[in-house]
Amino acid sequence: MTRLEGKVALVTGGARGIGRAICAAYVREGARVAVADRLEADARETAAALGGNAMAVGMDVTDLGSIATGVRAVEDAWGGIDILVNNAGIFNMAPLGEITPEDYRRQFDVNVGGTIFAAQAVVPGMRRRGGGCIINFSSQAGRRGEPNITIYCSTKAAVISVTQSLALELAKDGIRVNAIAPGVIDTPMWDVVDGLFAKYENREKGEKKRLVGEAVPLGHMGTPEEIADPAVFLASDDARYITAQTLNVDGGNWMS
Ligand code: NAD
Repeated sequence: MTRLEGKVALVTGGARGIGRAICAAYVREGARVAVADRLEADARETAAALGGNAMAVGMDVTDLGSIATGVRAVEDAWGGIDILVNNAGIFNMAPLGEITPEDYRRQFDVNVGGTIFAAQAVVPGMRRRGGGCIINFSSQAGRRGEPNITIYCSTKAAVISVTQSLALELAKDGIRVNAIAPGVIDTPMWDVVDGLFAKYENREKGEKKRLVGEAVPLGHMGTPEEIADPAVFLASDDARYITAQTLNVDGGNWMS
């Protein structure tokens, strides 16, 4: 049995990494999925690979006009949105002395503002449909501080707070709001951030990732699919009495 039969989902940052795996899992489970991403060509490629139940939407979650246009396109095409996955996120590292106001604003605009304003855009339609479900993306970095990652960690801690507040505000509308806090997941996000591998400085990239994975209690970096499966659960009726929660999906990493 497919768990998301008849549902319409919009996944921000859906073109690659975790977002792409969620789009694929949702289509597999019977949903129609809007792959919404700032990288429009990549979103088109992902949607084409997923077949007729996926559509590409060019969307920059820091731009309210772009969010509104994208949401309207999905509502016009498929009648409404049942599931919003606020997966789009960016990461940057900087020691305190090198943090710039621009980087501070950019990470908050995408990771926190994008989450809030995408929710603001879909909630009226969810209310009209009598309910819905929002899944936000925090991180193990939102559970605890990390050296040289002050801004990203703060944004991901803020997402936990946004999740709790929106869950309480929207419960009366039948809209559940939860978050996922991934650990270390092997996606393109890691390919651009060498600083994360600092303690394995002289090893080649594949070896660095293997060593990062070995330090996880379950013994490997997570795959995007290992995040997508819990994202199916949270969107499904199996999670109908769960709201305001942030689910760690991290192989035990943040506890270790
Ligand atoms: P990724 O960089 O591989 O993919 C992120 C996607 O978001 C990209 O397709 C990108 O184009 C899109 N995006 C970025 N800015 C956008 C914007 N302004 N508007 C629309 N789309 C935008 O990242 P990922 O590893 O797949 O991460 C997905 C989510 O999971 C992020 O919120 C990230 O912070 C979180 N996360 C990732 C990890 C990890 O180890 N990979 C760990 C914890 C949390």
